[in-house]
Amino acid sequence: MDGDGERKGEFDGKAAAELVGELRQSFWNGKTRSYDWRTDQLRSLARMLVEKEKDIIDALHEDLGKPEMESFIHEISLAKDGCARTLKELKSWMKPQKVSTSITTFPSSAEIVSEPLGVVLVISAWNYPFLLSLEPVVGAIAAGNAVVLKPSEIAPATSSLLKRLLPGYVDSSSIRVVEGGVPETTALLDQKWDKIIYTGNSKVGRIVMAAAAKHLTPVVLELGGKCPVVVDSKVDLDVATKRIAVGKWGCNNGQACISPDYIITEREFAPKLIEAMKSTLEIFYGKDPMASKDLSRIVNSNHFKRISKLLDSDKVSEKIVHGGQRDEQALKISPTLLLDVPQDSLIMTEEIFGPLLPIITVDDIHQSFDIINSRPKPLAAYLFTKDKKLEEKFVRGVSAGGMSINETVLHITNPGLPFGGVGESGMGAYHGKFSFDTFSHKKAKSRLLKALVNGDIIGIILALIGWPRA
Ligand code: NAD
Repeated sequence: MDGDGERKGEFDGKAAAELVGELRQSFWNGKTRSYDWRTDQLRSLARMLVEKEKDIIDALHEDLGKPEMESFIHEISLAKDGCARTLKELKSWMKPQKVSTSITTFPSSAEIVSEPLGVVLVISAWNYPFLLSLEPVVGAIAAGNAVVLKPSEIAPATSSLLKRLLPGYVDSSSIRVVEGGVPETTALLDQKWDKIIYTGNSKVGRIVMAAAAKHLTPVVLELGGKCPVVVDSKVDLDVATKRIAVGKWGCNNGQACISPDYIITEREFAPKLIEAMKSTLEIFYGKDPMASKDLSRIVNSNHFKRISKLLDSDKVSEKIVHGGQRDEQALKISPTLLLDVPQDSLIMTEEIFGPLLPIITVDDIHQSFDIINSRPKPLAAYLFTKDKKLEEKFVRGVSAGGMSINETVLHITNPGLPFGGVGESGMGAYHGKFSFDTFSHKKAKSRLLKALVNGDIIGIILALIGWPRA
């Protein structure tokens, strides 16, 4: 099929089946398996990140009003790091991994062989539309697979840029981009894949998993949730508020899966925290944040309405202690702090995914663990404290996809750490070696080293352990 057949609106079940058939053929021809093919693709992608930096920044600005520096650090640099780390380590990742043997398996050797899965599907989301598309593709290529990328239609400039750029840099017989929304994704999901990685909300996550189940296809679901930030009173407040602000408003104006969703702090400490947050916000975004060029806008009017509803339901707008400005025309909402909204209000039961930040107060900071654990498991959880014992209790007692202590979002930037959710926030993980493992099958290989008595290894074992044979 030519590239035109994969354009949005023209991609149906027949086209999807043809595409998968073509890529499967390419996979079976063996070309994606070689180390050289994999590294050629990855080097080329790394080159694309340098040569097309401006186009990527422009597309992200068009889709989300993303500030240039944010696009560079969060989307381009992280993608570059992913390519560089993979290129540096791939040879060792690909090597069979020796496993020790025991008397029961004597005399044999054993190893784990990483083999590519086949043809994999990457479905990505709109909020980091470049990184969330490229990073799983890097993992799929590194593991030697053919791959189809379906970027999000909610970020159309980035989606179309990926569709235009990739054929110029990578091998189109094995790596393809399909643009489109629900009909195109449904057509893709009807096909048999060897793995699907989906990034997005948990409602669609369930649709993806149900479609995959028909073919017994394994899935990685990178979902979201409400990421809590516990702020202890024993804390460097200036540092804490700056880091919370970076993780919240400095990440796509809160439209990030691991952005702080709500804060829990002690009642007596809350006024100090709020004052410090206000000062930090003024340093970061000036007296009129609605005019700041350092804040992304809300992606579209549907999401603007969704976030507005969180403010307009359950009278929570009465709880605003800072911010609250909205401009529907410009799709802008200012950084907004709310104090002690009801725990059963919409804003505390739905993922916020925007610039609103409720602060919940408790008598004792240890109560925060119960609040977090009474809710679905979050993708990330954060703690700010100087108290080592509290930190240990938090790490042991709170279940989350990942954590940062005295920081927000830091853990996602380290390719040595797995990135993924737990429970309602997702399943499976990727980044760095974890991506390679996610897109590989770990094949067990045993080898008889020396047949001692007519090759009767079982006989030898049974003799060694003194088992009577019939
Ligand atoms: P989205 O609207 O871009 O949807 C994600 C993908 O699902 C898109 O490619 C879209 O085409 C596809 N899709 C949508 N509806 C579908 C359907 N009915 N059938 C098949 N495919 C469909 O993104 P979103 O869901 O609004 O993303 C926001 C959510 O994603 C939040 O919950 C956020 O926390 C989560 N998220 C998670 C991560 C992570 O890495 N864990 C990263 C970013 C976002």
